[in-house]
Amino acid sequence: MKIKETELITFEEAFASTRREMVDRFTKHVSPIEARFFRLLDADKRYVKAEGIRIFDEQGEEYLDFTAGYGSLSLGHNPTEVLTAVQQAAALPTVFSFFVGIHPLVGALAENLHRLLPGHPDVSCFGSGGAEAVEIALKTARSSTGKKRFIYADGSYHGQSFGSLSLTGRTYRRYFEPLLPNCENVPFGDLQALESKLRQGDVAAFIVEPVQAEGGCNIPSKGYLPGAQELCNKYDALLILDEIQTGFGRTGRMFAAEHDAVKPDIVVVSKALSAGVLPMSASATSHEIWKKAYDKEDSWGSLISTFRGNPKACAAALKAIEILVRDGLVEHAREMGEYALQRLQDLKTRHRNIKEVRGIGLLLGIEFSSENTSNFILSRMLNQHHVILGSFDHRPDMLRLQPPLVVQKEEIDRAIEALDEACGKSRIGLALGAGKTAIGRAVRPPK
Ligand code: PLP
Repeated sequence: MKIKETELITFEEAFASTRREMVDRFTKHVSPIEARFFRLLDADKRYVKAEGIRIFDEQGEEYLDFTAGYGSLSLGHNPTEVLTAVQQAAALPTVFSFFVGIHPLVGALAENLHRLLPGHPDVSCFGSGGAEAVEIALKTARSSTGKKRFIYADGSYHGQSFGSLSLTGRTYRRYFEPLLPNCENVPFGDLQALESKLRQGDVAAFIVEPVQAEGGCNIPSKGYLPGAQELCNKYDALLILDEIQTGFGRTGRMFAAEHDAVKPDIVVVSKALSAGVLPMSASATSHEIWKKAYDKEDSWGSLISTFRGNPKACAAALKAIEILVRDGLVEHAREMGEYALQRLQDLKTRHRNIKEVRGIGLLLGIEFSSENTSNFILSRMLNQHHVILGSFDHRPDMLRLQPPLVVQKEEIDRAIEALDEACGKSRIGLALGAGKTAIGRAVRPPK
């Protein structure tokens, strides 16, 4: 097909799009269903500036972002030092492609991950997103053990690719079946159920999140993860720990594994790895497992992926990790998380529509009496108070507070005071029919 330059939208035109053009193009050419969701929530705004936890729309209105890209924007929006590192990497006159050579940033990042990650894995296989890292982990487990089956926990979320979706417990699955065979679920936190699956001896790996994020902020009881690790050792299966959402300070420790001293065989990370500035993920394991999986005559090429170890993404990750450690942000997240949880618990004593609050570090969830209440509050928080909250994929009756790790006490106070007002208003609002499940219907496909 021949197309003239004048028939295409230039970068400059795209950048200068009006809100209307932006919404129309997104609706027509990207995702009609998400466009409907944003419209119903009145969230199809054109944001023009974002810095740290703050976002500004065209009218100059300020919003606090308590979603932080579901954990990826650990340093907030547009962290200057990370952006500068990316620009510097782009300007380096070195070779960028894995197909022609090795870049210095990729090995340096892998060495830092070796020093930092739970269990100090020797080798990192890089990818672009969380699901890709999960896929690599699954292949590593199968190839190194020679076994077929995978076990996952109910309420888990590991991604939307075929393999990771096969280990994710939720309804999205049903439209895409058949998924990967030999994947079986056990209740989260249940070691007996896990052992009964492992006992058959043909399990390649058990994959688990140290704290379930999309499942609704579920924290396992002490001993669960080390217990799972022991069982996996006993039956020669691998333990894959999914730290994609919990890693790099989110739970008030560098990794959530540290809450219960677990040393997984494979650990997968993404999101905050590069502070959400560029797509990056990794699946990391020991030399021993890596060798068993990939040091075979005909398996060398099986790790190939065009954008693997992209130097600009490596630069973002190196700088993001440096800032996290230098600025004591893990300890800060712990302190802010404890403060926010305490304030949420106080709020619960005053509002009957709050059933429960729970969380760890800056991964916090509020369970409401109904999905309608949660929708009403989500919308009121955004439109009345300019505080953006998130929901959990598996729990439409819950809202999440997951701000960047750089959040300050005053910002937490502003969110809690807004929540106080919104919770108080929700009974009247719902009686008047506001908040109904319109938002819920917009995001869930029709039955
Ligand atoms: N694993 C966990 C725990 C996640 O929270 C997510 C995404 O939210 C994924 C895996 C998938 O990551 P991605 O969306 O980058 O594919």
